Amino acid sequence: MKAAFFAQHGGPEVIEYGDRPTPEAQAGEALVQIKAAAVNRVDKWIRDGWPGLKLRLPHILGSDGAGVVSAVGQGVTRVKLGDRVAINTNLGCGKCERCLAGQDNLCLHWELIGETVDGTQAEYLAIPERQLLPLPAGFPFEEAAAAGLVFHTAWHSLITRGQLRAGESVLIVGAGGGVNTAAIQIARYAGCRVYVVGSNEAKLEKAQALGAEVLINRAQDDWGKKIFQLTDKRGVDVVVDNVGAATLMTSLRAVRRGGRVLTVGNTSGPKFEFDNRYLFSKHISLIGSTMGTWADFAQVMALVFAGKFKAPIDSFFPLAQTRAAHEKLERGDLFGKIVLTP
Ligand SMILES: [Zn+2]
Repeated sequence: MKAAFFAQHGGPEVIEYGDRPTPEAQAGEALVQIKAAAVNRVDKWIRDGWPGLKLRLPHILGSDGAGVVSAVGQGVTRVKLGDRVAINTNLGCGKCERCLAGQDNLCLHWELIGETVDGTQAEYLAIPERQLLPLPAGFPFEEAAAAGLVFHTAWHSLITRGQLRAGESVLIVGAGGGVNTAAIQIARYAGCRVYVVGSNEAKLEKAQALGAEVLINRAQDDWGKKIFQLTDKRGVDVVVDNVGAATLMTSLRAVRRGGRVLTVGNTSGPKFEFDNRYLFSKHISLIGSTMGTWADFAQVMALVFAGKFKAPIDSFFPLAQTRAAHEKLERGDLFGKIVLTP
């Protein structure tokens, strides 16, 4: 089969396109012919590599995707040949105590498709059938692939872990990333007042179209102060901060006493210092998570299928041009997802 892969870590230039062995569906697995796969920021980090990361090279990236079941292994009962499916990238073992408790995101043998095992940026992927969610007739593969990882991640963070309540104020730090554009829609859907801090007017306008009510341009305003003014010194109930090093301290200032700061990542770097006095004296809950449970996936994708949520798609690239897609991701001149089509 054709696939995008890398045989050594490095910049976008290490991404190759060529032949890899077509996987076979083992017992309990389905072979999915991939019709669309999305590019995520995690792809860049895996491609760059980090100390301790051990991959079997060459490695195929791609954490979310959608396609058609083209073969099934022994004992498969949930899907059949020809089914259109979306792929849940959160790969639990299905057997450990956490998986059996319905918390497959806390699996003792947790894996992420495209990170620790080969991913969706290929013509085919063999995957346990429990990872597959049926797509409604006519629902575009591209939209399912674009929505998968980001809505799953944001839903688990805001709704399951963050326990958003109607009427709360939610500040989202960053306007353009996939998880943040999902978070804006989810917070609005949950009945919250959504504040967004963005780097420029164009991104803020798009955030507004997704449901953000209060827009703060960080190029013009000190956003910590601005939140303080806009909330009459109260602060917001919840801050969604997936930026990290550059912003967490301001997020701790911007949240109200007893508020929550949610994080699923750190696009500005993983290590940072913060003043612990803010955390304890303001009774702040700092809540981390990554990905989500099967129930989160099924719940949020049902809303995607119903047209309540939509992942903005920045651009489409043929799978053969995955390297160019990485170059665009590195430049950062995008709003929403890049979708690859084999
Ligand atoms: Zn498990």
